[in-house]
Amino acid sequence: MAGVLIIGAGGVGRVVVHKVAQNSDTFSKITLASRRLESCKIYQDEIKQKYDIYIDIAEVDANKVDELVALIEKVKPDIVLNIALPYQDLTIMEACLKTKTHYLDTANYEHPDTAKFEYKEQWAYHDRYKDAKIMALLGSGFDPGVTNVFCAYLQKHYFDEIHYIDILDCNGGDHGYPFATNFNPEINLREVSSNGRYWEDGKWIETKPMEIKMVWNYPQIGKKDSYLLYHEEMESLVKHIKGLKRIRFFMTFGESYLTHMKCLENVGMLRIDEVEHNGCKIVPIQFLKTLLPDPKTLGERTKGKTNIGVVAKGIKDGKEVSYYIYNVCDHEEAYKETNSQAVSYTTGVPAMIGAKMMAEGKWQGEGVFNMEEFDPDPFMDELNKQGLPWVVKEL
Ligand code: NDP
Repeated sequence: MAGVLIIGAGGVGRVVVHKVAQNSDTFSKITLASRRLESCKIYQDEIKQKYDIYIDIAEVDANKVDELVALIEKVKPDIVLNIALPYQDLTIMEACLKTKTHYLDTANYEHPDTAKFEYKEQWAYHDRYKDAKIMALLGSGFDPGVTNVFCAYLQKHYFDEIHYIDILDCNGGDHGYPFATNFNPEINLREVSSNGRYWEDGKWIETKPMEIKMVWNYPQIGKKDSYLLYHEEMESLVKHIKGLKRIRFFMTFGESYLTHMKCLENVGMLRIDEVEHNGCKIVPIQFLKTLLPDPKTLGERTKGKTNIGVVAKGIKDGKEVSYYIYNVCDHEEAYKETNSQAVSYTTGVPAMIGAKMMAEGKWQGEGVFNMEEFDPDPFMDELNKQGLPWVVKEL
C-alpha cells in the first residue's frame, strides 16, 4: 500500500485522482495539491460522492521548492505524481530529491521562455536520484508513456530488431467549439506550432511546422490527415530501441484547427514573450489560454474516439515483419467514468498505472528512467484492466 501526493488539479489530474481512488487496494492515502485549493475541492467532493473515499487536499505553488518540500514532509507520500505543467518538472524533482521521495510525471521539462522540450535537465538528476536510492519515472502518460511501452512490448515479443517506428496519434473527437485544445492550451499550442523533427540514420532532421503530411486509416475512426511533429518520446526511444533506423511522430489535425492556429500565430497571439498592454505586461499565449475553453470542461460535450498507436517494421527470425499496436478510447465512455474527455483519460490512466508499477515493486530502480526501460508486460496487462485495452495486428 502506498501513499500518493498528486500535484495538479487540471484535466489530467482529475482522471488520475479517479483512477487512484478506484485502485484503493494499492493506494492507501491520497492527497491532491494544486495552485488553487478550490480546484482540488471540486475533485475531493467528486471522489467522496462517487467512491466514498476521502482525499486530502492542499494548496501549493509548485514553482517553489521550499513550499513543495514542506508539503512533502507534512504528507509523507511514497510517490509524488507531477500532473501540473512541464514548467514545474525540475522544482518537483528537486523537492523529491531533498525529501527522498519517488517521482513520476507525464511530460518533459520545458522552460516557460523557450518553446523547446528535452530530457537533458531531467536525465541530469540520474546520479543524484541513484545516490538517494529513489526512482523517477518520466513520461507516464499516453504519448509519451504508453507509446514507449508499446515499443518495448513489440521489441520483446514480436521483433529481433525494430528498424522503423511511426507513432500515430489521432483525436477523432468533436467538442462542437470552433477552436479548443484537448489539454492545456499553452502547452499544446507551443508544441504544435513549433518546427517538426524526426530521427533517421543517427541524425535529427528538422522540418517546418506541418510540412510533412500523410493520410492514415485509423481503426474505428477512418482516414485522417496526419502531420509530422516532434514529440518527446522519440528522444528516449532512439537511445533504447536497438537497431533503429528511423522514428517519426504524426498527429491528426482538422483543417479548421490548422486555420485557426495559423491566424492566431499571424496576429501574434501565440507569442510567448511579454508585451506591453495598457500599462501592464502580458504574454499573449497566456492571455489566449484565458479566452479558450478550459480542456477540463470539454468532457460533457465531446463525442467520438481517439486512436493512438505505433507501427513498427523490422526483422523476426530473418524475415521482414510489420506490426501495428493501438488503443481506441471513446470520449463519452471516458466522461461517464471520470467526468473527463478521452485526451485527459488516456493520459491520466497511464499515470496511475506507472505509479501502481512503482508502488507494487513491479518496476523498481534507483535513478531516472523512461518507460521503455522496464518490463512492458505488467503495464500492458494493467492497460487492459484499467480502461485502455489495446490491439496488436500484423500488417
Ligand atoms: P491543465 O492546465 O488542465 O492542469 C494543470 C494543473 O496544474 C492545473 O490544475 C493548475 O492549477 C496546476 N498548476 C499549474 N501551475 C502550477 C503551480 N505553479 N503550482 C501548482 N499547481 C500548478 O493541464 P492538463 O491537465 O491538460 O495537463 C497536465 C499535464 O499533462 C501537462 O504537463 C501536460 O503537458 C501533460 N500531458 C501529457 C500527455 C501525455 O500523453 N503524456 C497528454 C496530455 C497532457 P490551476 O487550476 O490553479 O491553474
